[in-house]
Amino acid sequence: MRANADTPRDARIARSFGAEGIGLCRTEHMFFEGDRITAMREMIVAREEGGRRRALNKLLPMQRADFEGIFEAMDGLPVTIRLLDPPLHEFLPHGGEETKLLARTLDMARADLNRIIESLRETNPMLGHRGCRLGISYPEITEMQGRAILEAAVRAMRRGIVVKPEIMIPLVSTVKEFDNQRAVIEDVADRVLGGMGEKISYLIGTMIELPRAALTAAQIAQSAEFFSFGTNDLTQTTMGLSRDDAGRFLPSYIDRGILADDPFQVLDTEGVGRLVGIAVEDGRRVRPNIKLGICGEHGGEPRSISFCHKLGLDYVSCSPFRIPIARLAAAHAALDA
Ligand code: PEP
Ligand code: MG
Repeated sequence: MRANADTPRDARIARSFGAEGIGLCRTEHMFFEGDRITAMREMIVAREEGGRRRALNKLLPMQRADFEGIFEAMDGLPVTIRLLDPPLHEFLPHGGEETKLLARTLDMARADLNRIIESLRETNPMLGHRGCRLGISYPEITEMQGRAILEAAVRAMRRGIVVKPEIMIPLVSTVKEFDNQRAVIEDVADRVLGGMGEKISYLIGTMIELPRAALTAAQIAQSAEFFSFGTNDLTQTTMGLSRDDAGRFLPSYIDRGILADDPFQVLDTEGVGRLVGIAVEDGRRVRPNIKLGICGEHGGEPRSISFCHKLGLDYVSCSPFRIPIARLAAAHAALDA
C-alpha cells in the first residue's frame, strides 16, 4: 500500500495513514508554488539551452529540498519520483495581466513573450509534447531533476535516513525513449555520486500508461527495473476518451447501460485491464523480479484493487486520504484469494 504524495507534508500524512512508501510523486506540482512558477516560466520561454539551464539552476535547490523532506518522511520506505510530465504551456501565464507581469519580470518584450506562448499551444496537449518527450527534447530538465533526487538522497542518507529512490519516466511508448532518458539519469548519477564520493542504490523504471508500452512491455522490461501502471492515461488512450471532458456524456452511457461504471473510477478490466495483464506477464517473463504497481486513481478503488491483487501486483498507490479504504480493500482481496 503506497501513496501518491508530492510534498513532505503529504508524505507525512500518508505515512500516518499507513502508507508503506510513495508510489507516485508528481514533481510538476512542486513548480507551482510561490516564486517557483517564475523560474519555471523563465525556463519554458528560454530560447536556448543556456537560458534553460540558468532557470533550472534556480529550481534545483527548491526541488532538492522537497525531495529531502520526502525521503525523511518516508525513512526506510521506497519513494517513486516521476520526472516532469505535463505539457509545458500548463505553466504559462493565463491572461493579459499575468503575461504583462511576466514580460516585465523576465525583461522581455511582451510581443516576443506572446509569440512564444502561442508557439507552445497544442490542439491536443494530452497527446502532445509531454512526458518523456519533454526530457528527450530538453535533456537538461531530466538532468536537473535527476541531480535534485540524488543529491537529496545523499544529503538525507548522511543524516542517517534510509533512502530508497525510484526514478520514474513518464509517458513512455517505446523502449528507445526509455533508454534515452535512462542514459541521461545514469550519466548525472555518475557525476553526482562520484562528486560526492557516495554510493546509493536506486531504481529507474517507467510508467506504463500508453497501450504501446503495455504491448511492448517485454522490450521495455529489458531496460526498466519497475513498471507503474498509470491507468488514468491508459484508460484515456485505450478507450479514446478524454479524461478532462468525458464527464459530459459518460453519465448518460452509464444510465443507458452502455458502460457499467465510469472507467476513470473503476478499472475497465476487460479492455484496459487486459493491457495491464499483458504487461505484467511479459514484464515478469523478461525480468522475474520486476517491481509492479499501479498509481492511477484506480489504485484507491476497491474493485480495481481486487483486480490488481489477482494480477499479482506488488503494490497499489493512491491519494493519502483513500489509504484507509484501500487497505481494507487490499485485505479483502487477500482473504478472498
Ligand atoms: C496516470 O496517468 O494514471 C497517472 C498516474 O499519471 P497522471 O494522472 O499524473 O497523468
Ligand atoms: Mg499519466
